[in-house]
Amino acid sequence: MLLKTDPDIIKGYLEDSSNLGGGHADGVYIPQNEKEIIEALNECNSKKIPLTVSAGETGTTGGCIPFGGWALTTQKLNKIITLDTERKFAVVEPGVTLEEIEAAVKKENLLYPPDPTEKTATIGGTVSTNASGGRGYRFGSTRDWVRRIKVALPSGEILDLKRGEKKAPLSTISTYTMPRVKNAAGYFAKPGMDLIDLFIGQEGTLGIISEIEISLSPALAETFDIVAFFPSEKIAVDFVLSAKAKKDPSINFFEFFDENTLQMLKKTYPHIPEGVKAAVYIEQEITAQNENTYLEDWAQLLEKYKASIDSCWLGMDSAKKEELKNFRHAIPEHINELFKTHKLVKLATDIAVPTDKFKEMYDFYTSSLNPPGSSLFNIKFGHIGENHLHVNLLPKSSEEKIAAKGLILKFVKKAISLGGTISAEHGVGKIKHQYLKEMYGQAGIDDMIRIKKTFDPNLILGRNNMFDVDRKS
Ligand SMILES: Cc1cc2nc3c(=O)[nH]c(=O)nc-3n(C[C@H](O)[C@H](O)[C@H](O)COP(=O)(O)OP(=O)(O)OC[C@H]3O[C@@H](n4cnc5c(N)ncnc54)[C@H](O)[C@@H]3O)c2cc1C
Repeated sequence: MLLKTDPDIIKGYLEDSSNLGGGHADGVYIPQNEKEIIEALNECNSKKIPLTVSAGETGTTGGCIPFGGWALTTQKLNKIITLDTERKFAVVEPGVTLEEIEAAVKKENLLYPPDPTEKTATIGGTVSTNASGGRGYRFGSTRDWVRRIKVALPSGEILDLKRGEKKAPLSTISTYTMPRVKNAAGYFAKPGMDLIDLFIGQEGTLGIISEIEISLSPALAETFDIVAFFPSEKIAVDFVLSAKAKKDPSINFFEFFDENTLQMLKKTYPHIPEGVKAAVYIEQEITAQNENTYLEDWAQLLEKYKASIDSCWLGMDSAKKEELKNFRHAIPEHINELFKTHKLVKLATDIAVPTDKFKEMYDFYTSSLNPPGSSLFNIKFGHIGENHLHVNLLPKSSEEKIAAKGLILKFVKKAISLGGTISAEHGVGKIKHQYLKEMYGQAGIDDMIRIKKTFDPNLILGRNNMFDVDRKS
């Protein structure tokens, strides 16, 4: 197996999009097959050396950053093993990127629908964080598309888990109740659950996922993309709630951009209309049922909410659709760059709440974010279709930093009180422990530590992802 101990090479495995600093490791394992993963696990487990899995390094919570011990990268585990176009599934190694999967299945007129907007993320990383993205509104999260996984445990044992074939033993199910919203916070827990679900969203803390079987769907028929601009954020939110109430199964996503997001993007996209305060981006599949009516339907609804269809950006051909997709993707890229420039650990929410509570949560954001005299830079954007926005705060002084941390905690508490989650898609990693504890209490955290010890008694894997394993209790 390839082993690297050169500090310049190790440096390449100490970062992700969280901007969390201080990571360090003694070396990097670069396995090329499952046997080599087991070799690394055996060595680390027998010597109690911490081992952190690193994949695409696009995570936003520091999950792949080691703080001691060794890193193990999945970058050379990058083969698509099977692509069964008849039965619509693929078997892949964990280091295959989403863009590689997309390219391979597209040729066969198929689609892997979970759509985290960052295509350099790997399938192993997205399974380990139960990532989702724009199209989660229609197609759900990564969990919904994973049929089977192989997991290498610290003991060197391989679990081959096929959905529907192995229930999780009671001793491996947490006793807390998960919120009924899109969720990626903590170990999955549900009475009667499959064992496979415990390993989806485990953030590299229980085992190393070495092979994944994913379901595929037929490629979408033609789609229609639209970015609509609104005179106020409130009107834009009301527009989305009204459009969602129609429960149209052909809509793939609703994405929201607040006023500050549009201001931030204006430098790169100067043709954003003057005076607008919010935008909503929608993708809809054009089907036999809606092909003659969809344009008129949107025009009517938009007019009702003071957004003329003439001012919208329409994606009618593939070049324009790509442009709109890049416009959406530019937001996290811009904001991550800002955090990097200001050398700040990412301060952002990943909160989702139930649909009937979204308006209350939104009003809470706006009233808390902009008190008189505050100049704290903030933007709200994201997956409004799933009642899930990212509020990013960029403090410029130590006072603002304290205020920003206080605000995020306030949002977290409010979301929990409304039956929501502190993380709908990014996971907890090393920077959101406090919020996970707010959500499930110390008893929930103790439950998770107990489950971790069942699979990883020496506590070597993904140390301090989700919770602090060094806590004295
Ligand atoms: C611009 C941008 C946009 C983004 N948009 C979205 C979005 O829309 N939705 C979303 O959900 N996320 C989004 N993300 C976050 C990120 O892409 C996801 O969290 C993704 O799942 C991380 O995958 P990765 O391969 O980069 O994993 P890494 O960041 O390398 O690792 C993530 C975690 O998974 C663990 N891990 C990785 N591989 C394995 C394995 N084989 N076995 C066990 N554990 C493993 C790691 O130890 C770590 O804890 C975005 C990020 C960026 C930079």
